[in-house]
Amino acid sequence: MKKFLIAIFLLQSTFAFPQSRKTENLIIVTLDGMRWQEVFGGVDQAILDNPKYTREKDDIKKLLWSDDREERRKKLFPFLWNTVFSQGQLYGDRNTGSYVNVANPYKFSYPGYNEIFTGYPDTAVNSNDKIKNKNTNVLEFINKQKGYQNKVAAFSTWDVPPYFLNKWRNGLYVNSDQDPIAYSSPTAKLLDDMQKLSMKPNGERLDIITYVAAREYLKTHQPKVLYISFDETDEYAHQGNYDHFLAAAHAEDGMIADIWNTVQSLPGYKNKTTLMVTCDHGRGDKIKDQWRDHGQNVEDAGQIWIAVIGPDTKPLGEVKTPVALYQKQIAPTIAALLGFKFVPDHGNAEPILSIIH
Ligand SMILES: [Zn+2]
Repeated sequence: MKKFLIAIFLLQSTFAFPQSRKTENLIIVTLDGMRWQEVFGGVDQAILDNPKYTREKDDIKKLLWSDDREERRKKLFPFLWNTVFSQGQLYGDRNTGSYVNVANPYKFSYPGYNEIFTGYPDTAVNSNDKIKNKNTNVLEFINKQKGYQNKVAAFSTWDVPPYFLNKWRNGLYVNSDQDPIAYSSPTAKLLDDMQKLSMKPNGERLDIITYVAAREYLKTHQPKVLYISFDETDEYAHQGNYDHFLAAAHAEDGMIADIWNTVQSLPGYKNKTTLMVTCDHGRGDKIKDQWRDHGQNVEDAGQIWIAVIGPDTKPLGEVKTPVALYQKQIAPTIAALLGFKFVPDHGNAEPILSIIH
């Protein structure tokens, strides 16, 4: 009897979300250290007005400014505030009581990505060093499921994602920074040349190379789960270059729009794909000089945001019902969108139900 009950339990665990699930494919995009303040409020006037951080204030005002907060954010993130706003969901505007936080105490990249993908805010994960992650991540979990084997891939600008995803343990395809773009297509060859020959203002390949390499992989290999990891927002923020921070954010919104339009134009993906966009950590706010920084001692740097669009996600737009969500819930949510139940190695992260129903 006990065995029988266990069997029923396992069956329920595996097929916890069987009802009319339409999502077969998943695209996850992260914008490194992208502040919720700009996502929900557009250009921040106090930073714009500070010549120490903003070189070309007039140009930015022309392109991205409006006195109206909702118009302003639409100018900076047109895809998020037109398409996702009308067809998907956005969480994290603290002005409306929507709180999304990291659960890890560190508020920098590796601990954040570990939390996103393993659902476990492991206090032992406390540096950005190239250490192979011990924790099981949701991408390798999905890569083991029937129909998903060798159909999960990741592309990153930064060179640490192969470590937090531990590709050596699980065989995930992770293409990062200077890895050759060596799969067989004329576009891949061109991209590989551009990667080698273009300038690297931040010492790593440009986000646009990461993006187009990922899009080409999608077209040539048809992955069912694709993770695209951008980095430029964090780099320019640390440099105190608000012009480029905004330009990178705006360009990444355009790439996210492009990947959405691409999947919606391909029969294998159209109306069967969910797109989730989020970030690894926030940045400072109250002390305006801290917008550049994040980490354990920066008060607001644990504040993040989530945007989702897809066939199983109700078009609620900006979700203003007061919520307190955590980064660790992203991994089980990703699995649940595909109909799987992912249980982190430790802890108790649950899927975000309003996204999956
Ligand atoms: Zn950083």
